[in-house]
Amino acid sequence: MKILMVSSEAEPFAKAGGLGDAVSALSRALSRAGHEVRVVLPRYYCIDRSKLEAVDGPLGVKMGGPSGCEEWAGVYKSYLPGSTVEVYFVDHERYFGRDGIYGSKAEPDFPDNPERFAFLCRASFGLCRRLGWIPDILHAHDWPGSLAPVFLRHEEANSEFAKTASVLTIHNLGYQGVYPKEAFAAFRLPWELFHGAGFEFFDKVNLLKAGLLSADILTTVSPSYAREIQTPASGFGLDGLLRHRSSDLVGILNGVDLDEWDPETDLRIPARYSPSKMAGKDKCKAALQKELGLPVDSTKPLVGMVGRLTEQKGVGELFGPLYGSAYRVCADMALQFAVLGSGEKWCEDELRALSGRLPNFKAIIGFDERLAHLVEAGSDFFLMPSRYEPCGLNQMYSLRYGTLPIVHRTGGLSDTVENYNQDTGAGTGFTFDQLTPRAVYDTVGWAVWAWYNRKEHVAAMRARAMAKRFSWEHSAAEYAKLYQCAIERGC
Ligand code: ADP
Repeated sequence: MKILMVSSEAEPFAKAGGLGDAVSALSRALSRAGHEVRVVLPRYYCIDRSKLEAVDGPLGVKMGGPSGCEEWAGVYKSYLPGSTVEVYFVDHERYFGRDGIYGSKAEPDFPDNPERFAFLCRASFGLCRRLGWIPDILHAHDWPGSLAPVFLRHEEANSEFAKTASVLTIHNLGYQGVYPKEAFAAFRLPWELFHGAGFEFFDKVNLLKAGLLSADILTTVSPSYAREIQTPASGFGLDGLLRHRSSDLVGILNGVDLDEWDPETDLRIPARYSPSKMAGKDKCKAALQKELGLPVDSTKPLVGMVGRLTEQKGVGELFGPLYGSAYRVCADMALQFAVLGSGEKWCEDELRALSGRLPNFKAIIGFDERLAHLVEAGSDFFLMPSRYEPCGLNQMYSLRYGTLPIVHRTGGLSDTVENYNQDTGAGTGFTFDQLTPRAVYDTVGWAVWAWYNRKEHVAAMRARAMAKRFSWEHSAAEYAKLYQCAIERGC
């Protein structure tokens, strides 16, 4: 199949979170399975043009605005490293010639984002025409890609794209691309479609909503999350729409990049290890303790955490200054706690304060890939108390690194971590049902108890966890089946 990915992120070119990992890994896996995959991305300012191949001639892209005008896009080309997947970069100084993917420190969400990503989406069609390459599947990702299925349905239904089927993947329903309704003018769509294509959301424009109504097939990144987003508690106002489209909505678990995240081959960690040779893990633990300034001590369990410090990740329940459980966890329990993350300022400040107050707690504020690998390898447990988690990568990395996850049973966390059974020793981690500071405290306490009192269970769980494989090959095969079904439906 010919598959076009329309995305705002694809590592290593542009990544703000799990979306960038998923788009590239899925594209590579589909390509390895014999499909022809191409990716369209903006040429953000941070992507060095001199390392890309220029594609001849600028591309005219019709945009809205008061008079309606044509904007010109430069086009560049490269490949996803280690693959034959072609990546096309749409270049436009005014839209993408600035720091930041979605926003900057000064302006966390660029107000012209609807226009920027409308430009990306419409340019994708022009690009395919230019290349004489019409995809069987247009696979759009999250709200920035959402206009691609809208344009396909409402502008390209009778063009050479008439047979192209569209798939839209929700990587995180919490981000929908909601903007003042005036933004609609930039899309150059008739105003009837403000309602007709479903953009309208409490008198604003909602890009994801329009995409969800226009795409032939909807997916999200775990089976549990596919169910949860159809409930009012987790639907972010779109649960009714998602229930309406329930028969077209499928949850496919993301894989992990086993070339990047494998303790047997990982060169970012000080020693490598495998289920039969675990000594390397002890070395990683000592190196992590040393690097963070924690006492080097193999007798105490080390709980690690890596991620964005946002409410979604449960940081309120954990680090909330008045009610969070982290202080008591560290004060009451014989453990060490290491955090790597960046995000909301109050949380960064709180982590710094806790690092100063508690001898067994250390936080590194920042984004550091090497250190993320070291935390995964050097910790005994990995805490992920996410309020909601569409899929989550870190718990899958943790399993692979023999670092038992302690997680809220939600979304992808419930699809990947099996709860410990104290009687039989079964399981691969520790889970709790309701996210409260108390539940986090108790579950960390349970894991620490098992570490000291059920050593043989912990060792067996580790081996079981490390044997788990969440491969992209498997996920890509699921997507391929879905694409085939979309094509056969004649969408
Ligand atoms: P999300 O996409 O919601 O941020 P995921 O667990 O799906 O969460 O993916 C997060 C990715 O970003 C993982 O690869 C994780 O290791 C990485 N990451 C998050 N925060 C940091 C950080 N501070 N330093 C290094 N890597 C990080």
